[in-house]
Formats: sequence, C-alpha cells, structure tokens
Amino acid sequence: MTKINLALPAAAIREIRINSITGYQGDAEELVKAGGCDLKDKERSFSQCMGCTTSKAACMTILIQDAAVISHGPVGCASCLHEFSFTYRVNAPLRGVKKPTPRRIFSTNLQEKEAIYGGGLKLAQAIREVQNRTNAKVIFVLTTCASGIIGDDVESVCTEAEEELGIPVVPIFCEGFRSKVWTTGFDAAYHAIARKLIPKPQQRRKDLINVINFWGSDVFSQWFAPFGAKPNYITPYATLDNLKQAGEAVATVQACSTLGSYLGAVLEQDFGVPEIPAAPPYGIAQTDRWFRALGQILGQESVAEKLIAEKKKEFLPKIEALRRKLAGKTAYVTAGAAHGHALLAVLGELGVTPCGAAIFHHDPVYDSGRPENDQLAQRVADYGNVPNYNVCNKQEFELVNALNRLRPDVLLARHGGMTLWGAKLGIPALLVGDEHYAMGYEGLVNYGERLVEVMENDEFVKDLAKHAVMPYTKWWLAQPPSYFLRGGTGQ
Ligand code: SF4
Repeated sequence: MTKINLALPAAAIREIRINSITGYQGDAEELVKAGGCDLKDKERSFSQCMGCTTSKAACMTILIQDAAVISHGPVGCASCLHEFSFTYRVNAPLRGVKKPTPRRIFSTNLQEKEAIYGGGLKLAQAIREVQNRTNAKVIFVLTTCASGIIGDDVESVCTEAEEELGIPVVPIFCEGFRSKVWTTGFDAAYHAIARKLIPKPQQRRKDLINVINFWGSDVFSQWFAPFGAKPNYITPYATLDNLKQAGEAVATVQACSTLGSYLGAVLEQDFGVPEIPAAPPYGIAQTDRWFRALGQILGQESVAEKLIAEKKKEFLPKIEALRRKLAGKTAYVTAGAAHGHALLAVLGELGVTPCGAAIFHHDPVYDSGRPENDQLAQRVADYGNVPNYNVCNKQEFELVNALNRLRPDVLLARHGGMTLWGAKLGIPALLVGDEHYAMGYEGLVNYGERLVEVMENDEFVKDLAKHAVMPYTKWWLAQPPSYFLRGGTGQ
C-alpha cells in the first residue's frame, strides 16, 4: 500500500504517487500489461483545455450538506463551482434529500493588490463573513494557482479562523498547476477531510459501511440490509457528522476506484477500516466477486452466496434477453478512468463490442496496491481486449477523430458535453449521470434497456448530422488520433 502521510498539509499528486498518465494510444491489454513502473506518459504537442484539480476538490466539498466552500483566488477560478450547485439540486432525489438547500460557494476574488501584498488578510475576512452569512458547520478553503504562486499561508489563516470561530476551517491544497491528472483534486479534498475532520475511532460499528461515491442513487441500502448494515455515503449529501463516523465503519467500498483510491487507502491505513479487495460491481463476474469479498470481510459469506443466487435467479433471464437484442452492436466509451472501465465491463456482459474508448487518465495501480481493485485488468480478463484505447484528458479533438473513423452504433459518455459529438456525427449517444445505474445484476438490466432504447430511437441524431457543422477541419479528421502524441506523426 502506498504510504500516505496525513501529517503533511497536502496530498502527493497522482503522477508521483501512483504513476498516473494522461497520454496513451494503443489497446487496453497492452496498457494493463505495461503495469505500474514501466508506464511512460506520452505528452502532447497540442492540447485543448482540460479540467482543473480545484474543481474536483470543489465537487467533493460543495455537495456536503452543512458545509460552505471558499475558493481562495481570482473569481474566475470559482466559475466552474456553480455546476455543483446544479448537480446537488437535480440529483438530491436519488439520495432522498427532499429539500435541497442552496449551496454556499464563495470566492475571495483576489486582485492585483493581493497578488503583490498577499491575500491572507482578505481570506481571514472572507472566512468570518462566510460564517456570519451561512452558519456552516464546516468551512473548506480551496487554494488556486494564484494563491499558491503568491505563497499565501493558507494553513495558518485557517488554523487561526478555526480557533476564533469554533468550527473546523479546512484548507485544501488543490492549485490547478499541481497536476495534469485532475482527479488529484479528489485526493486533495479527501486528504484534508481525513486530516481535519475524521477522528480516530473509539469503536468499530458493524452496522456501518463507507461508500465512497458521487451522487448515485441509493442502491447500497438494500444490498447491505441482509448483512445487517447500512451505507455511510461519502461525501456528496453527507453531513459533517456522517463524515466523522467514517473511521468507525466496518469496511469501505467504492463506486469508482478512480474517485476513492486515496480515501479508501487512508481509511485503511490510518483508521483501520478495511477496503474490500474488489473493484466496483459492474458486470456479472465482477458483481459476484464484489459480493463475495464483502461477505468475507464481514464474516458473512453465506449471506453473500444467498444474495448472489437470488439476484441471479431474478435477473439473468432478463440479461440474456437483452444480449439477444444487442447482438452485433458496437459502442465507443468516453469517461473518467474507472467509470469508463466499468462501462466497458457492462458492454462486455451485454455482448456489445467496444470498438474503442477515450478515457480521461490512467492509474496503473490504485493506492491500496491491490490488483483486485484494478477494473481495467479485470475487464480485459473477463471479456477480452478493447482496441483503440485512448487515454486523453478530455481532448475532444481526439475523441471526434476516433468517432469519425470508427462510427460505432452508440456512444456512451459519463460527462455532460461529450454526447454532442456523437449526435453531430449521427451516432446515438447515452449519458447516465447516476454512476450506480449500471451496478449489480439489476444494473445490467437498467443500462441494457436504456441502450436498446437509445439505439432504436436514432432519427433525431441522424437528422441533426445532416445539418451539423463540425469545428474540426477535413485535414484533422484525416490524421490518426495520436498525431499530436509523442511518437505520433505530428511531432
Ligand atoms: S486554479 Fe489554476 S488551473 Fe484552476 S481555474 Fe484557477 S488558474 Fe485555472
């Protein structure tokens, strides 16, 4: 297991900690075989804009129910934060939050003056003002490139504010320039939460299992009930009290190994909460393994076996019927790393051939260091190789190039704004924001039915393609997608 040091204010970035990369073109099997240390990132000589670690740290904190978040930087750095207010509101019903309150997002709006004389005072005033206005139970302070470059002592300002206000004021070191792998922002937020908010456990609660996830629907309550446990969802829609309980849970599971790699490992290393040795349950083979690993860690193997048998009896005939409907179809996947691997596993199970994928980064190993958590390796072992596997940090020009060449029957996406590229090319596209939707045996039925529906109703995108204008030139579309990657023909 990677050594994580909570005594330090900041998390080590993914490139250094687990050798993550953002540039690769080849196939999935080669990438899995390349393993950890031998994997070399391929830089691009041309790049479109990409995500920022600040926004990922914001995502994991803005969605905490009783928190307020201050972006310490120029106001522009906070511009991407509003999208999480929308996310909070629209996904609240999935998690039973009946009256979602407005999110509390602020910026210190650093100007030239602070860039010269420092922004510490302005931050201290902002923290007081935010507490006056919101009465939040915890305030998070996100650093940005500007506050990092001018060298503000954000840690000291937060400690002093904490003493003055009597609530936790938590600095998160997530300057955009720290890392090309934006999921480092998740790690930065979890590092700060574990360091400042989760106390050492006084007891072990057998009825509580941590679920590190985004905003997916509450499928875990009914899965955990036969084991006599309930989920402790971290961090979206959690309260400060929920977060404090994380160190007492009996185990940790994840909806996405990319998201929860760091926190799962921290909870095990520093709080004694074991992370189950299995990638998230997407596809039948992985769902079997996941329930068995959970049963083993809880000492309830027979409960797991009974649950697997009952679920399979109910859902396998429906899955088989979907396989017949989807036979011969091809798909292209674009998503963040582990969720992309999950969708590729779902395709494998439903008998749809993946003709390629654009995945936003690659972690050759997760922080647990366990091969059982590697969803791509398991996807390849369970269902075979994925050709045209492109690791690109949302470089849409590469995605469009690949889609135009491969012309799949459907495009699967995880992020808003990506499906339009399929539509412009006349390719039906499916975006499901609920990351739990395709999980488990029942998830294969949910997702398979949506796939059939999307492919059967393609008139709109076919018409749209006749009138759509592409921003990319014919020249670019005739080049290989790896043209600007190191070793490509455009170097
Ligand atoms: S933190 Fe840096 S990379 Fe992120 S939005 Fe601000 S300036 Fe851009």
